[in-house]
Amino acid sequence: MSSSTPTSPTAPDSTTKVSNFLRQIIESDLAKGTYATRRWAGSPGDAAHQATGQLDTAKIRTRFPPEPNGYLHIGHAKSICLNFGLARDYGGVCHLRFDDTNPEKEEMEYVNTIIDSVKWLGFDWSQPGNDKPYQASDYFDFMYRAAEYLITSGNAYVDEQTAEQMRVNRGDFIKPGVDSPFRAKSAEHHLARFREMRDGLHADGAMVLRAKIDMASPNINMRDPAIYRIRRAHHHNTGDKWCIYPMYTYAHPIEDALEQITHSICTLEFEDQRPFYDWLMDKLIAGGLLASPPPKQYEFARLNLTYVVTSKRKLKQLVDDKVVNGWDDPRMPTIVGLRRRGYTPEALQLFAERIGVTKSDSWIDYATLEGCLRETLDASAPRAMAVLDPLKLVLTNWDELFGAGNMDACTAPIHPHHPELGNRHFKLGKEVWIERTDFEETPPKGFFRLFVGNKVRLKYGHVIECTGFSKDAAGNVTEVQATVVPDTKSGTPGSASVKVKGVITWVAAADAQTAEVRLYDRLFTAEHPDAGGKDHMASLNPNSLKIIQAIVEPTLATAKPDAKYQFERHGYFVADRVDSVEGKPVFNLAVGLKDSFGK
Ligand code: ATP
Ligand code: MG
Repeated sequence: MSSSTPTSPTAPDSTTKVSNFLRQIIESDLAKGTYATRRWAGSPGDAAHQATGQLDTAKIRTRFPPEPNGYLHIGHAKSICLNFGLARDYGGVCHLRFDDTNPEKEEMEYVNTIIDSVKWLGFDWSQPGNDKPYQASDYFDFMYRAAEYLITSGNAYVDEQTAEQMRVNRGDFIKPGVDSPFRAKSAEHHLARFREMRDGLHADGAMVLRAKIDMASPNINMRDPAIYRIRRAHHHNTGDKWCIYPMYTYAHPIEDALEQITHSICTLEFEDQRPFYDWLMDKLIAGGLLASPPPKQYEFARLNLTYVVTSKRKLKQLVDDKVVNGWDDPRMPTIVGLRRRGYTPEALQLFAERIGVTKSDSWIDYATLEGCLRETLDASAPRAMAVLDPLKLVLTNWDELFGAGNMDACTAPIHPHHPELGNRHFKLGKEVWIERTDFEETPPKGFFRLFVGNKVRLKYGHVIECTGFSKDAAGNVTEVQATVVPDTKSGTPGSASVKVKGVITWVAAADAQTAEVRLYDRLFTAEHPDAGGKDHMASLNPNSLKIIQAIVEPTLATAKPDAKYQFERHGYFVADRVDSVEGKPVFNLAVGLKDSFGK
């Protein structure tokens, strides 16, 4: 893909799509008509409800099911692009579903930011007459009914063993489990007990409902997994209606089935749960509770990004410990953090597309993510000059050539490849800010910028010849002097007659706008900060943020929050969406011009 054609979130070029195992599965299902008879009644529901509907016009249904217990991160972005992207590409629908079955950790703050992040990434879950995201807690009634059905059909029982007894009797990889003494009691007994659990007659943790499968199964997840527990906790949606809550392994397949999901895509750690997923679907379809055919679970490798942690718990710790300034700190791999850092939806979509999906875990190089941002910004970001480490340059023959106090107007394209965007305007004068590193008292070999006796071009301006410099008592260079070579103004006839090897960027002192610039670097110095149970906090980078006062060209005084620029020769910067105000701009380093990560 060329750098000038970033992928659009809504109309991707299908020729750039690389096939993968999920695409192959979906294409095969579509060819075989696996889901051709599936009905959709316009809302989630059980078999009877869906039977009242028409044949589903959505060819496939996928879902993105975050738990609202934190902010979404780059790993979620991969999952969002994958699930919404597959639905888009195959004439399907992707559901946004809050997996809010765990009452303790969930908050509305997280619900709202997740909605914002998915929309910002360019995706939409709304359907005609239905624009609210789904929430798993709306299915608690069904889950309860399904649990009673499992009990009465001999497929579930209430276990009153202690947690410790249960753990011991579960066995391990070598040792088969042992049946609970409660397992063989009658369905009537278990149903009565389960209703007591629901009615609050037993203490938290006193008993659990378990699926009755096989305590000797080689897959420990099939050794009668717990499916309901007692937990007196207030739920953000259902309030205090319930004191029993379904376990994730039980709730998730049911959520998928009620929503008529076809392809339920999750990360590899759920592979061992798949037999239970299928077992539960079989039982509930046999009982007439769920529509057939059931959804199927497929697993892909989660995203691991070098120098980054992507666990909500660990990210929350960074926020709580004030290592960063909130979830949207530009160093955070959260979607809100990446956005504030200057990432665009196009860049994140390109990244998801480029890394693809696989069945084996690996680490993606952080440079791949940065490359995607650089590519999309290169094509779109207006150019500007900025001096990050200013050193004064005095043009000693200025007054003689241009008249004391006069300035010379310069123009530059807003974008070198988009002349239709027009030009930017600024002035050159007697005193100019240049980059400190563009002057050398004793030039090393191959240095083509300013040193006494050398000529360079002030970009979009004149050729100058360095004539001298001044130092302070400590030996620091405080000023550089040069003369303007007449008739060398960029764009004027004959201006190229004086050949120079160096071109430097600058901002005239009389024209300068000051700006706070926040130079961000990686948050961790270790390539795999939390691999193998390592403590990521031990490799925090103490220099992940450096704040400087820079000089920028006057056009940047009115930079709008979120506006992205290429500071010529430096990299891509974004006007901070929180702190930048007109007249007092604040810029964040998004990404450098070249890949310097790890160097
Ligand atoms: P975390 O471990 O960060 O809390 P999670 O998997 O518990 O993540 P959920 O909110 O349950 O977070 O995840 C929602 C969806 O995002 C799931 O389908 C999950 O598979 C997917 N997901 C989460 N992390 C990643 C990742 N690093 N790479 C790809 N997909 C991910
Ligand atoms: Mg989770």
